[in-house]
Amino acid sequence: MGNSHVTVLEINLNAIEHNLNVFKSRLLPETKVLAVVKAFGYGSSSVEIAKFLESKVAYFAVAYLDEGVALREAGIKTPILVLHPQKINLEEIIKSCLEPNIYSVTLLKAVIEAAKNLKVQNYPIHIKFNTGLNRLGFTKKDIPEILSLVKNQQEIRVASVFSHIAASEDLNEKEFTLQQINTFKEISTQLIPQLPTKPFRHMLNTSGIINYAEEAQFELVRLGIGLYGFANDEAETAKLQNVITLKSVISQIQTVEKGETVGYNRAFKAAETVKTATIPIGHADGISRQFGNGVGYVYINNKQAPIVGNVCMDMIMVNVTDINCQEGDEVLIFKDQMHIEDLAKRTNTIPYELLTAISQRVKRTVK
Ligand SMILES: *Cc1c(COP(=O)(O)O)cnc(C)c1O
Repeated sequence: MGNSHVTVLEINLNAIEHNLNVFKSRLLPETKVLAVVKAFGYGSSSVEIAKFLESKVAYFAVAYLDEGVALREAGIKTPILVLHPQKINLEEIIKSCLEPNIYSVTLLKAVIEAAKNLKVQNYPIHIKFNTGLNRLGFTKKDIPEILSLVKNQQEIRVASVFSHIAASEDLNEKEFTLQQINTFKEISTQLIPQLPTKPFRHMLNTSGIINYAEEAQFELVRLGIGLYGFANDEAETAKLQNVITLKSVISQIQTVEKGETVGYNRAFKAAETVKTATIPIGHADGISRQFGNGVGYVYINNKQAPIVGNVCMDMIMVNVTDINCQEGDEVLIFKDQMHIEDLAKRTNTIPYELLTAISQRVKRTVK
């Protein structure tokens, strides 16, 4: 395999560093940054990103145990928060030196039990509060029970308390967001003084940093999509550099005569003679069928070439009638942030989904 697969997702590490610095410049110098590298680093490569950022951030976060294990196996030593563990993962999490998000009484009891079984002391855990997203987390009324479980035991310590904003990118929801921030502050003020050690607090994701750095940066922020070059709007995204480029080549050029069709189900019918290029990337690589029939487009020699007919499992055909190109020429499937944003808009989704959809069949390279 190796280089035999010509479709590659190229990761620009200098751009990651630039983007990190853009966000750092919006924060107080003492505020720590956690880099979110879940879902293979938003579809790039969590290992490459984590290796590169290890000396530049305080923490990493992944969603699941196995994502954290992959980073440990790659030699990453930085603390890693596991955002969505299950009870059955807790012993493995501790053995792998990963730090669980504890979001329920069940999980809190289980992590103390797991730490006991493994004979560890002061093991760092992170307590999550639900302040309005209604996804995961304790509520204010759980504070007495949290305290009674946490006090009088040596096994675990609360390293941080945190919450997550439901609509940090949407300033129409500012009132709701400020209420979430307020609820979190109340909870922290009530809980923290009663804990034996002082945990750090965190609430902001990428768009939270952009919109609420003043109100809610606390001691740490959780930076995800911003690292990979995307922000709330065009003006903010323009300050960031492009990290991800998805590239391929033209396998073959076809001349399709008037009346002939292209691809499965004969979805495209030529109204006049057209020239198409076949590219080795398909829905098995993460190019959704929604991109078919002119919805999506690639760049060839700096010109847009719309996808013709249906997306196949391993290939797409694009219209290159007006493009000077030949077999072997480079094709940009994801050229830059603007291209990805536009493709997301055209398929009623968001860049997060397009990036994380790129399957593991596509080779990752770093630049
Ligand atoms: C994914 C995630 C983030 C990162 O969000 P971005 O919008 O990508 O910055 C932060 N916090 C939690 C809890 C998450 O699940």
